[in-house]
Amino acid sequence: MFHHLTFDLESGTDPYGVSGDTSGDGKATSAAVGRILDLLAAHNTKATFFVVGTLAAKHPQLVRGIAEADHEIACHGWKHELLYHSSANHPLPVTHYLLQDLDRARKLLQDLSCQPVSGFRAPSWSIGPQNLFLLDMLKELGFTYDSSLFPAWTWLYGSNAFSRKTRKLQNGLLEFPPSVMKLGPLRLPFSGGIYMRVLPWGVIRAGISQFRRMGEPLLFYFHTWEFGQPDQSLQCCFPYGFVRNAGLRRTPGRVNRLLSSLHFETLASGIVKSSHCS
Ligand SMILES: [Zn+2]
Repeated sequence: MFHHLTFDLESGTDPYGVSGDTSGDGKATSAAVGRILDLLAAHNTKATFFVVGTLAAKHPQLVRGIAEADHEIACHGWKHELLYHSSANHPLPVTHYLLQDLDRARKLLQDLSCQPVSGFRAPSWSIGPQNLFLLDMLKELGFTYDSSLFPAWTWLYGSNAFSRKTRKLQNGLLEFPPSVMKLGPLRLPFSGGIYMRVLPWGVIRAGISQFRRMGEPLLFYFHTWEFGQPDQSLQCCFPYGFVRNAGLRRTPGRVNRLLSSLHFETLASGIVKSSHCS
């Protein structure tokens, strides 16, 4: 079975949009992307990159380089703006500018990559039970899949009500959630972010085994800033600084370990095989 490896291409100095710097340090981001592409090439593996629009506008060569290496380009919003302020009670103003921003980001990414951009991931998993109407907006814009619903409650995002499996939503959009383990009544994230960096490898291996027993593809998620120099840690208030920096040096080694033990394909490639999902 093929699984999915995804990378969010976003500013390393402000992944939470605290300072408003969303286009990033070109030199550091370029070096990080180079390390990721080298790692993927060494394992002859293709991945999906969710790219922030402002970063693509400022550093178009990064998007072109990733696409030329035959990886998939998908959309990670225009400014890495969290979408929680969206509300079903007041959707119109939010929908209006989000429509414009996402359409602009998607078109720019398509122009730069010369490939259809069919996937979206909300910055910091910021589509929750309160703003699910945004998924209909994605469908209207022409996206065919989403990867924004984090299927575990955390203090920053996610909900235990979301399915842990890849599935087709009512509006026809295919949903690819990050892999989350079930431990009795609890759900434990393990497939990316701080969880992948701080959990013992034995726990991650148990999560992988659980998905293999279920016959479900795994989805892992990483960020370009996790492949930067060790001194590029973000000085930021709790909890953002802790979530951003804990275990940062571990990511490349862990991705290498995954690449050595599992087979991966892009999410766009996985759509064909998942089209039977309901
Ligand atoms: Zn992000």
